[in-house]
Amino acid sequence: MTTKAQELSGWEYSLAPETTKIDIEQKNKLFIQGKFVSPKSRSWFSTINPATEEKLADVACAGKADVESAVTAAKKALPKWSRLSGSQRAKYLYRIARRIQERSRELAILETMDGGKPIKESRDVDLPLVAQHFFYYAGWADKMQYAFPGANIEPVGVCAQIIPWNFPLMMAAWKLAPALACGNTCILKPAETTSLTALRLAEIMQEVGLPEGVVNILTGAGETGKLLAEHKSVNKVAFTGSTAVGKSLMRSTAGTGKKLTLELGGKSANIIFADAAIDQAVEGIVSGIYFNQGHVCCAGSRLFVEEPILDEVVSKLTHRLRSLRVGNPLDKNTDLGAINSQEQLDTVERYIRNGTEEGAQLHEIHSERLPSKGYWCSPCFFTDVQPSHTIAREEIFGPVLSVMTFRTPQEAISRANNSPYGLAAGIWTNKGSKIFEVAKKLDAGVVWCNTYNKFDAASPFGGFKESGFGREGGMQGLRPYVRLQNQSRRAK
Ligand code: NAP
Ligand code: MG
Repeated sequence: MTTKAQELSGWEYSLAPETTKIDIEQKNKLFIQGKFVSPKSRSWFSTINPATEEKLADVACAGKADVESAVTAAKKALPKWSRLSGSQRAKYLYRIARRIQERSRELAILETMDGGKPIKESRDVDLPLVAQHFFYYAGWADKMQYAFPGANIEPVGVCAQIIPWNFPLMMAAWKLAPALACGNTCILKPAETTSLTALRLAEIMQEVGLPEGVVNILTGAGETGKLLAEHKSVNKVAFTGSTAVGKSLMRSTAGTGKKLTLELGGKSANIIFADAAIDQAVEGIVSGIYFNQGHVCCAGSRLFVEEPILDEVVSKLTHRLRSLRVGNPLDKNTDLGAINSQEQLDTVERYIRNGTEEGAQLHEIHSERLPSKGYWCSPCFFTDVQPSHTIAREEIFGPVLSVMTFRTPQEAISRANNSPYGLAAGIWTNKGSKIFEVAKKLDAGVVWCNTYNKFDAASPFGGFKESGFGREGGMQGLRPYVRLQNQSRRAK
Protein backbone atom coordinates (compact mmCIF):
# COMPACT_ATOMS: atom_id res chain seq x y z
CA MET A 1 0.00 0.00 0.00
CA THR A 2 1.30 3.48 -0.78
CA THR A 3 1.43 5.79 2.21
CA LYS A 4 1.04 9.57 2.15
CA ALA A 5 4.73 9.83 3.06
CA GLN A 6 5.63 7.69 0.03
CA GLU A 7 3.44 9.76 -2.28
CA LEU A 8 5.18 12.91 -1.12
CA SER A 9 8.74 11.71 -0.96
CA GLY A 10 8.62 9.23 -3.81
CA TRP A 11 10.28 6.48 -1.81
CA GLU A 12 9.76 4.52 1.36
CA TYR A 13 12.27 4.46 4.16
CA SER A 14 13.51 1.07 5.30
CA LEU A 15 12.64 0.22 8.84
CA ALA A 16 15.39 1.40 11.18
CA PRO A 17 14.51 0.11 14.61
CA GLU A 18 16.85 0.84 17.50
CA THR A 19 17.92 -2.22 19.43
CA THR A 20 16.03 -2.91 22.64
CA LYS A 21 18.73 -5.14 24.06
CA ILE A 22 19.02 -3.52 27.44
CA ASP A 23 18.49 -5.26 30.72
CA ILE A 24 15.53 -4.07 32.72
CA GLU A 25 15.27 -5.14 36.35
CA GLN A 26 11.97 -6.89 36.92
CA LYS A 27 11.61 -5.37 40.41
CA ASN A 28 12.77 -1.74 40.54
CA LYS A 29 13.45 -0.70 44.11
CA LEU A 30 13.62 2.68 45.81
CA PHE A 31 16.95 4.53 46.00
CA ILE A 32 17.51 5.67 49.56
CA GLN A 33 20.76 6.43 51.40
CA GLY A 34 22.79 5.39 48.35
CA LYS A 35 21.22 1.92 48.12
CA PHE A 36 18.39 0.25 46.25
CA VAL A 37 15.92 -0.93 48.88
CA SER A 38 12.58 -2.73 48.79
CA PRO A 39 9.65 -0.53 49.75
CA LYS A 40 8.48 -0.79 53.35
CA SER A 41 5.00 -0.30 51.91
CA ARG A 42 5.46 -3.68 50.14
CA SER A 43 3.56 -2.11 47.31
CA TRP A 44 4.54 -2.27 43.61
CA PHE A 45 3.01 -1.11 40.36
CA SER A 46 3.67 -2.04 36.72
CA THR A 47 5.18 0.22 34.13
CA ILE A 48 4.39 -0.47 30.50
CA ASN A 49 5.62 0.45 27.07
CA PRO A 50 2.82 2.71 25.74
CA ALA A 51 3.72 1.84 22.14
CA THR A 52 3.04 -1.87 22.65
CA GLU A 53 1.11 -2.06 25.95
CA GLU A 54 3.68 -4.65 27.08
CA LYS A 55 4.67 -4.65 30.71
CA LEU A 56 8.29 -3.62 31.15
CA ALA A 57 8.76 -4.08 34.89
CA ASP A 58 7.42 -3.63 38.38
CA VAL A 59 8.29 -0.43 40.20
CA ALA A 60 8.20 0.17 43.97
CA CYS A 61 5.44 2.41 45.28
CA ALA A 62 6.84 4.40 48.22
CA GLY A 63 4.55 4.85 51.21
CA LYS A 64 4.74 6.95 54.35
CA ALA A 65 7.56 4.95 56.00
CA ASP A 66 9.62 5.09 52.80
CA VAL A 67 9.15 8.84 52.54
CA GLU A 68 10.31 9.05 56.16
CA SER A 69 13.47 7.03 55.39
CA ALA A 70 14.32 9.13 52.33
CA VAL A 71 13.84 12.44 54.14
CA THR A 72 15.94 11.18 57.07
CA ALA A 73 18.70 10.15 54.65
CA ALA A 74 18.64 13.54 52.90
CA LYS A 75 18.67 15.38 56.23
CA LYS A 76 21.57 13.32 57.50
CA ALA A 77 23.63 13.91 54.34
CA LEU A 78 22.99 17.66 54.31
CA PRO A 79 25.63 19.06 56.74
CA LYS A 80 28.57 17.32 55.09
CA TRP A 81 27.41 17.93 51.52
CA SER A 82 26.63 21.59 52.07
CA ARG A 83 30.04 22.16 53.71
CA LEU A 84 31.97 20.71 50.75
CA SER A 85 33.66 23.39 48.70
CA GLY A 86 31.93 24.37 45.48
CA SER A 87 34.73 22.90 43.40
CA GLN A 88 34.37 19.54 45.16
CA ARG A 89 30.63 19.48 44.49
CA ALA A 90 31.38 20.46 40.89
CA LYS A 91 33.57 17.38 40.47
CA TYR A 92 30.63 15.13 41.30
CA LEU A 93 28.36 17.01 38.90
CA TYR A 94 30.92 16.78 36.09
CA ARG A 95 31.26 13.06 36.73
CA ILE A 96 27.48 12.63 36.60
CA ALA A 97 27.34 14.56 33.31
CA ARG A 98 30.10 12.49 31.76
CA ARG A 99 28.55 9.21 32.88
CA ILE A 100 25.23 10.31 31.39
CA GLN A 101 27.02 10.88 28.09
CA GLU A 102 28.67 7.48 28.31
CA ARG A 103 25.35 5.75 29.02
CA SER A 104 23.26 8.02 26.80
CA ARG A 105 22.28 5.38 24.22
CA GLU A 106 20.94 3.04 26.88
CA LEU A 107 19.16 5.93 28.64
CA ALA A 108 17.60 7.16 25.39
CA ILE A 109 16.27 3.71 24.50
CA LEU A 110 14.80 3.21 27.95
CA GLU A 111 13.25 6.69 27.91
CA THR A 112 11.58 5.83 24.60
CA MET A 113 10.42 2.38 25.74
CA ASP A 114 8.92 3.60 29.00
CA GLY A 115 7.45 6.90 27.80
CA GLY A 116 6.67 6.47 24.08
CA LYS A 117 8.66 9.40 22.68
CA PRO A 118 10.53 8.93 19.36
CA ILE A 119 14.09 7.71 19.72
CA LYS A 120 15.38 10.58 17.61
CA GLU A 121 14.05 12.99 20.26
CA SER A 122 15.24 11.12 23.33
CA ARG A 123 18.62 10.51 21.66
CA ASP A 124 19.18 13.90 19.99
CA VAL A 125 17.26 16.32 22.22
CA ASP A 126 16.62 14.97 25.72
CA LEU A 127 19.89 13.20 26.50
CA PRO A 128 22.24 15.94 25.24
CA LEU A 129 20.26 18.50 27.26
CA VAL A 130 20.34 16.27 30.36
CA ALA A 131 24.14 16.04 30.23
CA GLN A 132 24.40 19.74 29.37
CA HIS A 133 22.40 20.67 32.46
CA PHE A 134 24.76 18.83 34.79
CA PHE A 135 27.81 20.30 33.02
CA TYR A 136 26.31 23.78 33.21
CA TYR A 137 25.54 23.71 36.94
CA ALA A 138 28.89 22.02 37.67
CA GLY A 139 30.32 25.21 36.22
CA TRP A 140 28.36 27.36 38.69
CA ALA A 141 29.10 25.33 41.83
CA ASP A 142 32.34 27.16 42.62
CA LYS A 143 31.24 30.54 41.25
CA MET A 144 28.19 31.22 43.38
CA GLN A 145 29.60 34.50 44.66
CA TYR A 146 29.37 35.85 41.10
CA ALA A 147 25.71 34.87 40.85
CA PHE A 148 24.90 36.63 44.14
CA PRO A 149 27.65 39.23 44.66
CA GLY A 150 28.24 40.32 48.24
CA ALA A 151 25.69 37.90 49.70
CA ASN A 152 26.17 35.23 52.29
CA ILE A 153 24.91 32.18 50.38
CA GLU A 154 23.44 29.13 52.09
CA PRO A 155 21.65 26.12 50.64
CA VAL A 156 17.95 25.81 51.38
CA GLY A 157 18.27 22.28 52.82
CA VAL A 158 16.26 19.18 51.99
CA CYS A 159 14.50 19.50 48.63
CA ALA A 160 11.45 17.50 47.51
CA GLN A 161 11.40 17.46 43.71
CA ILE A 162 8.34 16.14 41.91
CA ILE A 163 8.40 15.72 38.14
CA PRO A 164 6.02 14.74 35.28
CA TRP A 165 6.21 12.12 32.56
CA ASN A 166 6.79 14.15 29.41
CA PHE A 167 10.57 14.71 29.80
CA PRO A 168 11.47 12.32 32.61
CA LEU A 169 15.27 12.56 32.59
CA MET A 170 15.35 16.17 31.49
CA MET A 171 13.06 17.21 34.32
CA ALA A 172 15.20 15.22 36.76
CA ALA A 173 18.30 17.06 35.52
CA TRP A 174 16.56 20.46 35.69
CA LYS A 175 15.72 19.77 39.32
CA LEU A 176 18.78 17.93 40.62
CA ALA A 177 21.66 19.79 38.96
CA PRO A 178 21.08 23.30 40.41
CA ALA A 179 20.01 21.92 43.80
CA LEU A 180 23.19 19.87 44.15
CA ALA A 181 25.41 22.69 42.87
CA CYS A 182 24.04 24.92 45.65
CA GLY A 183 24.72 22.30 48.37
CA ASN A 184 21.21 20.95 48.95
CA THR A 185 20.21 17.31 49.31
CA CYS A 186 17.31 15.91 47.29
CA ILE A 187 14.47 13.46 47.12
CA LEU A 188 13.21 13.08 43.58
CA LYS A 189 9.76 11.68 42.82
CA PRO A 190 9.40 10.69 39.13
CA ALA A 191 6.01 10.28 37.46
CA GLU A 192 4.32 6.91 37.75
CA THR A 193 4.41 6.06 34.03
CA THR A 194 8.09 6.95 33.54
CA SER A 195 10.16 5.91 36.54
CA LEU A 196 12.77 3.68 34.93
CA THR A 197 15.30 6.23 33.68
CA ALA A 198 15.32 8.07 37.02
CA LEU A 199 16.43 4.80 38.58
CA ARG A 200 19.28 4.51 36.04
CA LEU A 201 20.25 7.99 37.15
CA ALA A 202 20.37 6.58 40.67
CA GLU A 203 22.83 3.95 39.41
CA ILE A 204 24.92 6.77 37.98
CA MET A 205 24.89 8.49 41.39
CA GLN A 206 26.33 5.27 42.82
CA GLU A 207 28.88 4.91 40.03
CA VAL A 208 30.30 8.40 40.55
CA GLY A 209 30.52 7.85 44.32
CA LEU A 210 28.05 10.61 45.24
CA PRO A 211 27.88 10.61 49.06
CA GLU A 212 25.01 8.49 50.38
CA GLY A 213 21.74 10.29 50.95
CA VAL A 214 22.58 13.34 48.82
CA VAL A 215 20.15 12.12 46.12
CA ASN A 216 17.27 9.78 46.97
CA ILE A 217 14.74 8.59 44.41
CA LEU A 218 11.25 7.62 45.47
CA THR A 219 9.06 6.07 42.82
CA GLY A 220 5.37 5.94 43.57
CA ALA A 221 1.97 7.47 43.07
CA GLY A 222 0.56 10.97 43.46
CA GLU A 223 0.10 10.18 47.14
CA THR A 224 3.87 9.63 47.47
CA GLY A 225 4.46 13.12 46.08
CA LYS A 226 1.89 14.55 48.47
CA LEU A 227 3.44 12.84 51.52
CA LEU A 228 6.86 14.02 50.45
CA ALA A 229 5.86 17.64 49.88
CA GLU A 230 4.04 17.76 53.21
CA HIS A 231 6.87 16.24 55.25
CA LYS A 232 7.88 18.68 57.99
CA SER A 233 11.63 18.24 57.42
CA VAL A 234 11.42 19.22 53.76
CA ASN A 235 12.66 22.80 53.29
CA LYS A 236 11.86 23.26 49.63
CA VAL A 237 9.35 21.83 47.17
CA ALA A 238 10.07 22.04 43.44
CA PHE A 239 7.21 20.81 41.29
CA THR A 240 6.63 20.44 37.57
CA GLY A 241 3.25 19.15 36.53
CA SER A 242 -0.37 20.11 36.26
CA THR A 243 -1.81 23.39 37.50
CA ALA A 244 -4.36 21.50 39.63
CA VAL A 245 -1.65 19.70 41.65
CA GLY A 246 0.45 22.89 41.73
CA LYS A 247 -2.43 24.74 43.37
CA SER A 248 -2.85 22.00 45.98
CA LEU A 249 0.88 22.22 46.77
CA MET A 250 0.55 25.98 47.22
CA ARG A 251 -2.17 25.39 49.76
CA SER A 252 -0.28 22.66 51.62
CA THR A 253 3.02 24.60 51.82
CA ALA A 254 1.41 27.94 52.75
CA GLY A 255 2.56 29.14 56.17
CA THR A 256 5.05 26.29 56.63
CA GLY A 257 8.17 28.31 55.72
CA LYS A 258 8.90 25.91 52.87
CA LYS A 259 10.18 27.43 49.65
CA LEU A 260 8.12 26.52 46.62
CA THR A 261 8.62 26.72 42.85
CA LEU A 262 5.99 25.62 40.36
CA GLU A 263 6.40 24.88 36.66
CA LEU A 264 2.88 24.21 35.46
CA GLY A 265 0.82 23.95 32.31
CA GLY A 266 0.45 26.22 29.31
CA LYS A 267 -1.61 27.19 26.29
CA SER A 268 1.10 28.94 24.36
CA ALA A 269 0.45 31.12 21.32
CA ASN A 270 2.37 31.01 18.07
CA ILE A 271 1.76 34.22 16.09
CA ILE A 272 2.48 34.23 12.38
CA PHE A 273 2.48 37.52 10.51
CA ALA A 274 1.89 37.80 6.77
CA ASP A 275 5.46 39.01 6.22
CA ALA A 276 6.98 35.85 7.76
CA ALA A 277 8.95 33.26 5.82
CA ILE A 278 5.94 30.94 5.63
CA ASP A 279 7.68 27.64 4.95
CA GLN A 280 10.07 28.22 7.83
CA ALA A 281 7.17 29.27 10.07
CA VAL A 282 5.14 26.16 9.20
CA GLU A 283 8.14 24.00 10.06
CA GLY A 284 8.45 25.77 13.43
CA ILE A 285 4.74 25.54 14.10
CA VAL A 286 4.81 21.81 13.39
CA SER A 287 7.72 21.23 15.74
CA GLY A 288 6.12 23.61 18.25
CA ILE A 289 2.99 21.51 18.70
CA TYR A 290 3.67 18.02 17.37
CA PHE A 291 7.12 17.59 18.96
CA ASN A 292 6.91 14.83 21.60
CA GLN A 293 3.25 14.18 20.58
CA GLY A 294 2.34 17.59 22.02
CA HIS A 295 3.37 16.39 25.48
CA VAL A 296 5.19 19.66 26.00
CA CYS A 297 4.15 22.21 28.59
CA CYS A 298 5.22 25.08 26.32
CA ALA A 299 3.71 23.53 23.14
CA GLY A 300 2.50 26.21 20.72
CA SER A 301 -1.04 24.85 20.89
CA ARG A 302 -2.78 28.05 19.75
CA LEU A 303 -1.81 29.33 16.32
CA PHE A 304 -2.74 32.91 15.42
CA VAL A 305 -2.43 33.55 11.69
CA GLU A 306 -2.67 36.99 10.08
CA GLU A 307 -5.87 36.77 8.06
CA PRO A 308 -4.57 37.20 4.47
CA ILE A 309 -2.27 34.16 4.75
CA LEU A 310 -4.69 31.76 6.45
CA ASP A 311 -5.39 29.60 3.39
CA GLU A 312 -1.71 29.36 2.50
CA VAL A 313 -0.75 28.39 6.06
CA VAL A 314 -3.52 25.80 6.35
CA SER A 315 -2.58 24.24 3.04
CA LYS A 316 1.14 24.11 3.88
CA LEU A 317 0.39 22.76 7.34
CA THR A 318 -1.76 19.97 5.89
CA HIS A 319 0.94 19.12 3.37
CA ARG A 320 3.65 19.00 6.03
CA LEU A 321 1.56 16.91 8.44
CA ARG A 322 0.98 14.31 5.75
CA SER A 323 4.72 13.70 5.62
CA LEU A 324 5.08 13.15 9.37
CA ARG A 325 5.64 9.55 10.31
CA VAL A 326 3.68 8.30 13.30
CA GLY A 327 4.55 4.90 14.70
CA ASN A 328 7.13 2.74 16.42
CA PRO A 329 9.02 5.20 18.65
CA LEU A 330 12.12 3.03 18.48
CA ASP A 331 12.31 3.48 14.70
CA LYS A 332 14.83 6.20 13.88
CA ASN A 333 12.54 7.53 11.09
CA THR A 334 9.60 8.14 13.42
CA ASP A 335 8.48 11.73 13.99
CA LEU A 336 5.59 11.13 16.41
CA GLY A 337 5.63 8.29 18.90
CA ALA A 338 2.99 6.95 21.26
CA ILE A 339 0.79 8.89 23.65
CA ASN A 340 2.19 8.33 27.15
CA SER A 341 -0.75 6.45 28.65
CA GLN A 342 -4.30 5.28 28.02
CA GLU A 343 -5.46 8.00 30.42
CA GLN A 344 -3.73 10.73 28.41
CA LEU A 345 -5.03 9.30 25.12
CA ASP A 346 -8.57 9.39 26.53
CA THR A 347 -8.04 13.04 27.53
CA VAL A 348 -6.75 14.02 24.08
CA GLU A 349 -9.58 12.19 22.29
CA ARG A 350 -12.14 13.83 24.59
CA TYR A 351 -10.79 17.28 23.61
CA ILE A 352 -10.89 16.38 19.91
CA ARG A 353 -14.56 15.32 20.22
CA ASN A 354 -15.29 18.44 22.22
CA GLY A 355 -13.73 20.66 19.53
CA THR A 356 -16.02 19.20 16.87
CA GLU A 357 -19.09 19.38 19.12
CA GLU A 358 -18.47 23.05 19.87
CA GLY A 359 -18.34 23.83 16.14
CA ALA A 360 -14.68 23.97 15.17
CA GLN A 361 -13.59 22.24 11.98
CA LEU A 362 -11.31 19.25 12.47
CA HIS A 363 -8.51 18.55 9.96
CA GLU A 364 -7.43 14.98 10.54
CA ILE A 365 -4.31 13.52 9.04
CA HIS A 366 -4.77 9.77 9.15
CA SER A 367 -1.68 7.69 9.29
CA GLU A 368 -1.87 4.27 7.69
CA ARG A 369 1.11 3.05 9.63
CA LEU A 370 -0.26 3.07 13.16
CA PRO A 371 0.51 -0.15 15.02
CA SER A 372 -2.49 -2.19 16.12
CA LYS A 373 -1.56 -2.07 19.82
CA GLY A 374 -0.53 0.89 21.91
CA TYR A 375 -1.82 4.44 22.43
CA TRP A 376 -1.84 6.41 19.21
CA CYS A 377 -3.11 9.75 18.06
CA SER A 378 -2.40 11.11 14.60
CA PRO A 379 -1.56 14.81 14.44
CA CYS A 380 -4.53 17.06 13.76
CA PHE A 381 -5.61 20.68 13.84
CA PHE A 382 -8.80 22.72 14.08
CA THR A 383 -9.87 25.79 12.12
CA ASP A 384 -12.97 27.96 12.76
CA VAL A 385 -11.96 28.06 16.40
CA GLN A 386 -13.53 30.68 18.68
CA PRO A 387 -11.66 32.01 21.74
CA SER A 388 -14.49 30.64 23.90
CA HIS A 389 -14.05 27.07 22.63
CA THR A 390 -12.66 24.64 25.18
CA ILE A 391 -9.87 23.59 22.77
CA ALA A 392 -8.73 27.24 22.60
CA ARG A 393 -8.66 27.67 26.37
CA GLU A 394 -7.61 24.44 28.04
CA GLU A 395 -4.34 22.57 27.85
CA ILE A 396 -4.77 19.39 25.78
CA PHE A 397 -1.21 18.05 26.07
CA GLY A 398 -1.51 16.16 22.81
CA PRO A 399 -0.88 16.63 19.05
CA VAL A 400 -3.84 18.97 18.55
CA LEU A 401 -3.52 22.55 17.27
CA SER A 402 -6.17 25.30 17.33
CA VAL A 403 -5.82 27.72 14.40
CA MET A 404 -7.27 31.23 14.76
CA THR A 405 -6.77 34.52 12.92
CA PHE A 406 -6.02 38.19 13.63
CA ARG A 407 -5.92 41.41 11.64
CA THR A 408 -3.61 43.74 13.57
CA PRO A 409 -0.59 43.21 15.84
CA GLN A 410 -2.63 44.60 18.73
CA GLU A 411 -5.35 42.03 18.16
CA ALA A 412 -2.73 39.26 18.01
CA ILE A 413 -1.28 40.39 21.34
CA SER A 414 -4.60 40.66 23.13
CA ARG A 415 -5.82 37.30 21.80
CA ALA A 416 -2.54 35.61 22.72
CA ASN A 417 -2.71 37.08 26.23
CA ASN A 418 -6.33 36.01 26.65
CA SER A 419 -5.39 32.89 28.63
CA PRO A 420 -4.98 31.98 32.28
CA TYR A 421 -1.56 30.60 31.33
CA GLY A 422 1.64 32.46 30.46
CA LEU A 423 4.38 30.00 29.73
CA ALA A 424 5.70 30.57 26.21
CA ALA A 425 4.96 32.20 22.87
CA GLY A 426 6.33 32.33 19.33
CA ILE A 427 6.47 35.20 16.83
CA TRP A 428 7.07 34.72 13.11
CA THR A 429 7.87 37.83 11.07
CA ASN A 430 10.74 39.20 9.00
CA LYS A 431 10.53 42.59 10.77
CA GLY A 432 12.88 42.93 13.74
CA SER A 433 10.98 45.95 15.06
CA LYS A 434 7.75 43.94 15.14
CA ILE A 435 9.46 41.18 17.08
CA PHE A 436 10.59 43.59 19.81
CA GLU A 437 7.28 45.42 19.92
CA VAL A 438 5.16 42.26 20.17
CA ALA A 439 7.49 40.20 22.38
CA LYS A 440 7.56 42.75 25.17
CA LYS A 441 3.76 42.85 25.31
CA LEU A 442 3.20 39.11 25.53
CA ASP A 443 2.52 37.60 28.97
CA ALA A 444 4.89 34.69 28.51
CA GLY A 445 7.97 33.54 30.35
CA VAL A 446 9.70 32.55 27.10
CA VAL A 447 9.19 34.16 23.70
CA TRP A 448 10.81 32.49 20.72
CA CYS A 449 11.23 34.55 17.56
CA ASN A 450 11.31 32.80 14.17
CA THR A 451 11.94 29.52 15.98
CA TYR A 452 10.21 27.44 18.63
CA ASN A 453 10.92 24.91 21.39
CA LYS A 454 14.61 25.65 21.63
CA PHE A 455 16.23 24.95 25.00
CA ASP A 456 19.60 25.60 26.52
CA ALA A 457 20.88 25.03 30.04
CA ALA A 458 22.11 28.64 30.16
CA SER A 459 18.67 30.04 29.39
CA PRO A 460 16.09 30.45 32.17
CA PHE A 461 12.68 28.82 31.65
CA GLY A 462 9.43 29.37 33.54
CA GLY A 463 6.04 31.00 33.38
CA PHE A 464 3.65 33.72 34.48
CA LYS A 465 0.07 33.52 35.74
CA GLU A 466 -1.22 29.97 36.14
CA SER A 467 1.88 28.57 34.43
CA GLY A 468 3.71 28.89 37.73
CA PHE A 469 6.60 30.83 39.21
CA GLY A 470 10.32 30.41 39.65
CA ARG A 471 12.85 29.83 36.89
CA GLU A 472 14.80 26.73 35.93
CA GLY A 473 17.99 26.92 33.90
CA GLY A 474 20.53 29.68 33.67
CA MET A 475 21.90 31.70 36.57
CA GLN A 476 18.30 32.40 37.59
CA GLY A 477 17.83 28.67 38.17
CA LEU A 478 20.16 28.86 41.18
CA ARG A 479 17.98 31.34 43.05
CA PRO A 480 15.27 28.91 44.29
CA TYR A 481 17.98 26.72 45.85
CA VAL A 482 19.75 29.30 48.02
CA ARG A 483 19.02 31.46 51.02
CA LEU A 484 20.77 34.80 50.86
CA GLN A 485 22.17 36.77 53.79
CA ASN A 486 19.15 38.72 54.99
CA GLN A 487 16.78 35.81 54.71
CA SER A 488 19.19 33.04 55.70
CA ARG A 489 17.92 30.55 58.18
CA ARG A 490 19.36 27.23 59.19
CA ALA A 491 17.47 24.35 57.60
CA LYS A 492 15.60 22.45 60.22
P1 NAP B 1 0.57 15.82 37.43
O1 NAP B 1 -0.56 14.89 37.52
O2 NAP B 1 0.48 17.13 38.11
O3 NAP B 1 1.83 15.00 37.94
C1 NAP B 1 3.12 15.56 38.08
C2 NAP B 1 3.85 14.84 39.19
O4 NAP B 1 3.18 15.11 40.43
C3 NAP B 1 3.86 13.33 39.05
O5 NAP B 1 5.08 12.84 39.58
C4 NAP B 1 2.69 12.92 39.90
O6 NAP B 1 2.76 11.59 40.36
C5 NAP B 1 2.80 13.89 41.06
N1 NAP B 1 1.55 14.13 41.79
C6 NAP B 1 0.28 13.82 41.44
N2 NAP B 1 -0.58 14.23 42.40
C7 NAP B 1 0.16 14.82 43.37
C8 NAP B 1 -0.15 15.45 44.61
N3 NAP B 1 -1.40 15.59 45.04
N4 NAP B 1 0.88 15.95 45.36
C9 NAP B 1 2.16 15.85 44.94
N5 NAP B 1 2.50 15.25 43.78
C10 NAP B 1 1.52 14.75 42.99
O7 NAP B 1 0.94 16.17 35.94
P2 NAP B 1 1.12 15.17 34.74
O8 NAP B 1 -0.22 14.86 34.21
O9 NAP B 1 2.00 14.05 35.10
O10 NAP B 1 1.96 16.10 33.72
C11 NAP B 1 1.35 16.91 32.79
C12 NAP B 1 1.29 18.35 33.25
O11 NAP B 1 2.57 18.84 33.60
C13 NAP B 1 0.79 19.27 32.19
O12 NAP B 1 -0.19 20.12 32.72
C14 NAP B 1 2.03 20.05 31.78
O13 NAP B 1 1.79 21.30 31.25
C15 NAP B 1 2.80 20.11 33.02
N6 NAP B 1 4.23 20.28 32.75
C16 NAP B 1 4.79 21.51 32.96
C17 NAP B 1 6.14 21.73 32.68
C18 NAP B 1 6.78 23.07 32.90
O14 NAP B 1 8.00 23.14 32.91
N7 NAP B 1 6.04 24.13 33.10
C19 NAP B 1 6.92 20.66 32.22
C20 NAP B 1 6.31 19.43 32.01
C21 NAP B 1 4.96 19.25 32.29
P3 NAP B 1 2.03 10.43 39.50
O15 NAP B 1 2.70 10.36 38.19
O16 NAP B 1 2.28 9.22 40.31
O17 NAP B 1 0.59 10.81 39.42
MG1 MG C 1 5.82 3.42 31.02
